[in-house]
Amino acid sequence: MNAPAAALSTRTTCPYCGVGCGVIATPGPDGVGIAGDPDHPANLGRLCSKGSALGETLGADSRLLYPQIHGTRASWDDALSFVAEGFKSTIEKHGPDSVAFYLSGQLLTEDYYVANKLMKGFIGSANVDTNSRLCMSSSVAGHKRVFGSDTVPGCYEDLDDADLLVFVGSNAAWCHPVLFRRMETAVETRGTRMVIIDPRRTASVDDRALHLAITPGTDAILFSGLLVHLANTNALDHHYINQNTQNFESALTRAVEIAPTIAVTAAKTGLDIADVTAFFDLFVSTPRVVTLYSQGVNQSSQGTDKVASILAVHLATGRIGTPGCGPFSLTGQPNAMGGREVGGLANQLAAHMGFSEPEIDRVGRFWAAERMATREGLKAVDLFDAVADGRIKALWVMGTNPAVSLPRADAVRVALKKLDLFVVSDVVAHNDTLDMRPDVRLPALAWGEKSGTVTNSERRISRQRSFLTPAGEAKADWWAVCEVGKKLGYAKAFSFANAADIFREHAALSAYENNGTRDFDLGALVELDDTNFDQLTPVQWPFRKDQQPEKRLFEEGGFFTPTGRAHFIAIEPPALAEPTSSNWPLLLNTGRVRDHWHTMTRTGLSPRLASHISEPFVTMHPVDAETFGIEDQGLAKVSNGHGSVVLRAHVSDTQRQGEVFAPIHWNDDVAANARVGALVHAICDPWSGQPDAKATPVSIAPVQKKFAGFILSRNRLRLDAGSIWSWQALADGFATRVETNAEAEQICALLAEHVSQSGPGQLETMSFEDPARGVSRRSWVENGRLLAVLFLGPVNSTQSWEPLLEAWLADTMTAQQRRFVLAGKQTNGIADAGPAICACFGVRRGAIVQSIEDGACTAAEVGMRVKAGTNCGSCLPEIKRILQSEH
Ligand code: SF4
Repeated sequence: MNAPAAALSTRTTCPYCGVGCGVIATPGPDGVGIAGDPDHPANLGRLCSKGSALGETLGADSRLLYPQIHGTRASWDDALSFVAEGFKSTIEKHGPDSVAFYLSGQLLTEDYYVANKLMKGFIGSANVDTNSRLCMSSSVAGHKRVFGSDTVPGCYEDLDDADLLVFVGSNAAWCHPVLFRRMETAVETRGTRMVIIDPRRTASVDDRALHLAITPGTDAILFSGLLVHLANTNALDHHYINQNTQNFESALTRAVEIAPTIAVTAAKTGLDIADVTAFFDLFVSTPRVVTLYSQGVNQSSQGTDKVASILAVHLATGRIGTPGCGPFSLTGQPNAMGGREVGGLANQLAAHMGFSEPEIDRVGRFWAAERMATREGLKAVDLFDAVADGRIKALWVMGTNPAVSLPRADAVRVALKKLDLFVVSDVVAHNDTLDMRPDVRLPALAWGEKSGTVTNSERRISRQRSFLTPAGEAKADWWAVCEVGKKLGYAKAFSFANAADIFREHAALSAYENNGTRDFDLGALVELDDTNFDQLTPVQWPFRKDQQPEKRLFEEGGFFTPTGRAHFIAIEPPALAEPTSSNWPLLLNTGRVRDHWHTMTRTGLSPRLASHISEPFVTMHPVDAETFGIEDQGLAKVSNGHGSVVLRAHVSDTQRQGEVFAPIHWNDDVAANARVGALVHAICDPWSGQPDAKATPVSIAPVQKKFAGFILSRNRLRLDAGSIWSWQALADGFATRVETNAEAEQICALLAEHVSQSGPGQLETMSFEDPARGVSRRSWVENGRLLAVLFLGPVNSTQSWEPLLEAWLADTMTAQQRRFVLAGKQTNGIADAGPAICACFGVRRGAIVQSIEDGACTAAEVGMRVKAGTNCGSCLPEIKRILQSEH
């Protein structure tokens, strides 16, 4: 048992990444206090900047509060009857495969379980897929092809115990920050070495790491070369290979064909021979190696082969299932693993079972199913193609935003309009998918309101617990699904009293006729009563009846293939699915930034998180910038045959020549024309169906506008599409950066409408115009409080809202503040000092540079002077990089 949290505190789990950190939430009069749970084995009390800011994202302002049918408020009963009737009539007319659910790694396992059961056991289709398809389904397929089961063999303790950590396509410093801090501690205390294999020089790379800036799409060549090198240097574990694996010789033969020598490996991967040699030598000479990989491997047209090539070097050296050893898939989402466990992917049935006849029979008997799906369903990209061509006519989207996140997102929008029945369950009132006018909108419980379980990257199940009253009429997703199940006539199968009831059935299915034949087994938790479910402490699976949970698997084989042996794969020769061309000469890589999550529906609400990176951007190499006429901090249009976006250009040699990087987070609610998913091609891995989001050919061109500036407003604004804008949250309002050809008067008209919605107080306007310089400054004030501000000037002038912050926050401006607002001068003594590097203490780049100029030589010394990096530590990699650049 954990030590008890404080009286009014609740132990729960962070809703963001797959690290799965334990959180202690303490509601109080000033909001919800958030702290890391020192007893949770995933984080041992640490939280990253996103987790630490959770309290800022819990407001009810943006929530969907009640069910709607065709945009009109409806009762839950009417809305769910509408959904059930729609699904029923569609199935009657067009068959079970004409309907689908599209789920999310944000859902709890219990939500996932009932949705999967309804579709695959009672509707009779396997058209249940999830946004996890976009995230890690190549790991699932790779695990299954090699291990015979979707098993992550190790645990987080292995990251403490390893002597070499190899990262492949993983910017863990930003995407799994707490784990990365844990590994940095190992570097600092034990001298653990790091190798970072990534085309970009990300925040995970520092001077202690060996960085291999690999050519995109060639990871499997590098690991083929490593396998050959292991064979050539007698570094194979022949005992492990002989006892526990099969097909080694043919995999090695293929590896020799792909990468026969270090020189060929280096040439094909774009790396220096010396660097490849250094990596291979490190691998050979270090018995304890963990290889961590995430989206850079998974989001590839050959992602499954990449996974297989990574697993191969661990199997070939027997470095698996022992302390400090093993391949390690880092999952992106908080409950991607839970979704995998219940079978929430279209090519899985349930509880790590597939679609073989005995498995369909077993699950059917367990569920007393009336209509079992008998074959795999449509994976995400195929599923939305089927929406587009009319094969799928009814779709229920839960907790995800496919109009932004799917490849060819513009085509997805067009497809959604064709549905006969379109249902969306979400916590927010607006996002790009909800704005596609679904027939039914259903308000879901948000983090802090819902209760159930999630599973993190190390197979550890933790409780998410409720500590807030639901907003409006929001209800649990599992409840909504079960009510629809009952209305479809399956009352007995969907009469769950609570999440604990569902979890017990999920655990029982995992253990049903298992007897050690399947990795996923929660047999020891089948009898958990409601109280014990509520008090469940984090626990890893497999957790078989009358046994202890297993931390690691496969030390002595015991794979879940028919032979019990792991299967080496002779991979296909690696090649990019779509090479660049004269029309589309650059490769677009997409990914995440440190302080935002997915499509920003939560993190976008936090002023502190917004201050790190506040605008959608594209990073490119200086040589490419010169070639294509792009200025650093200018606007750039990135486009291809699928769509286009306009982003702020960041020119940096962290990017390889010929490649650009853009983050996935910004959407139409937050910015103009910045949905990067619109550009991503929909070419998928043949085994996993996961789309390649790391190498889409694009072109780039500069964009010029006449005016630049900002708007401060109390509510969010959306300007017209001719302007380039994006907003970020402020304390008590929003700052919208804008570049436009529109005159100030046109934007003022929008702002006048905005301020007219304010209270009945006395409204005044203040303005300063300098037509000769093209400068316009307007402010709207109610009873001495700023309601809105517009600053517009020539595009190359500096227009920063930072100096106005004190006046913006004042209940009643002083006379001096009024003068300064019009003059555009700072009122708070804080110059615009660059982005906030440390989100916890709001320490900006300028302050960190100043501390270095004042004598700080290490990150610890910077911390002592300005506090940066002394709380969650997510910013330490960036502080170290600033130290490097300033010294
Ligand atoms: Fe949440 Fe950060 Fe932990 Fe991920 S690393 S679970 S985002 S606190």
